[in-house]
Amino acid sequence: MPRETANLRLGIPSVDKMLRAPALRAALDRHGRPAVTDAVRTVLSAARRDLAEHRAAETGDEAIAARVNAILDVLAKPSLIRVFNLTGTVLHTNLGRAPLPATAIEAMIQAAGACNLEYDLEKGRRGDRDSHLEPLLTRLTGAEAATVVNNNAAAVLLVLNSLARDKEVLVSRGELIEIGGSFRIPDIMSRAGCILREVGTTNRTHLSDFADNAGDDTALVMKVHASNYAIEGFTTAPAETALAALAKEKDIPFVNDLGSGALADLAEYGLPHEPTPAEALADGADIVTFSGDKLLGGPQAGLIVGRADLIAKIRKNPMKRAMRLDKVTIAALEAILRLYTDPARLADRLPAIGLLSRSAADIADAATRICPVLANALEPIADVGIVACRSQIGSGSLPVDRLDSTALEIRPRVQGRGEGRTLNRIVEVFRSLPAPVIGRVQDGALLFDLRCLVDELSFVAQLEALDLS
Ligand SMILES: *Cc1c(COP(=O)(O)O)cnc(C)c1O
Repeated sequence: MPRETANLRLGIPSVDKMLRAPALRAALDRHGRPAVTDAVRTVLSAARRDLAEHRAAETGDEAIAARVNAILDVLAKPSLIRVFNLTGTVLHTNLGRAPLPATAIEAMIQAAGACNLEYDLEKGRRGDRDSHLEPLLTRLTGAEAATVVNNNAAAVLLVLNSLARDKEVLVSRGELIEIGGSFRIPDIMSRAGCILREVGTTNRTHLSDFADNAGDDTALVMKVHASNYAIEGFTTAPAETALAALAKEKDIPFVNDLGSGALADLAEYGLPHEPTPAEALADGADIVTFSGDKLLGGPQAGLIVGRADLIAKIRKNPMKRAMRLDKVTIAALEAILRLYTDPARLADRLPAIGLLSRSAADIADAATRICPVLANALEPIADVGIVACRSQIGSGSLPVDRLDSTALEIRPRVQGRGEGRTLNRIVEVFRSLPAPVIGRVQDGALLFDLRCLVDELSFVAQLEALDLS
């Protein structure tokens, strides 16, 4: 029996009839005919199934249109949306790392249309996309030359493949690290076509370990910033200057993967000092690689700075083409690098540095303002208090340092059985707000570390939408 006939028998409207229904006119306008038709078919076949299996089903036009609209709304909801990062981890990889400033966003909008990405406006001919960033990068780091790729993992892969394919790379055993998301130095090394030559031991590596292993097949000496862990106790590692001198003497380039690579001296902003690319180069590195979206506070990118002859080789590698940055990211990165030319105003202008250096008193004031509002919103089911806490920098930066901060602590009122369930429900309710609020669960309570709460008004405004039922 044809489907439409079956529908008629069951009293279900036809697809065509539904597409003409006034209740779906707005949906057609907004979502287009194919999407609405699909949703109507889905709802009608569900109704047909219900009736055939003797379950109740609403078959009126209005009821069906309402279900169609509900499906379309879900489908139209963007997947990538803004969230409130109240986890206490400032550069949270899962939450998009560094938030970008308005200047960078404005630059991204401008570049989104036609732009001089690879066009030399002075000479009126083909240009080079690195030209927008290289002058700023060399100025800020003191390097001879610079190039950029998609992220620091790509930067490391490209450097290794360009300078040491089928050759040996010397790395200390204490630096054979894994960064989250399957970036492991030994794996990257083999994917780059290089032979990893581990030297020294996990906790102690001496200059002589490098000297003894440097031979005709050695193409690079590499140092990797331990980033997300610290070796403490009976440890030693050769000074970078000594390692650089050894590499120079043997005529082997020395590469330093800094990971985070703060471009400015973080001590100026009350943060622990982190080696800068300029320092690494001054200490004798020939090539330095670092991330764009960690301590630098910009978009996802991998920056490579150093000796001009080596950068030229890296640029010539066909793999570079597969890793190049797009125009929108270049625009954002250029805007961010410009901010670094005026370090005195950096904390006011660059969110990553501003949030990391935000004073404990300022955060505590925010807690005092917001606590009663949040307590009121959660009145029937939880108590809200103000507690001292410590934020983390995140993204494997400065793993052992913690920043003094303040959190709002949400504790379910039910004690004993049901406490865990209520807590999970609260976590879920905040996660399903229009701009989801992500905190962290600790000792039976939900903590909102307020360090990264900038837009207090929006945060408070959407508390009305909390559905605690
Ligand atoms: C984070 C990190 C990387 C990877 O950088 P991404 O920009 O995340 O790709 C590589 N090396 C070190 C030492 C790092 O800390």
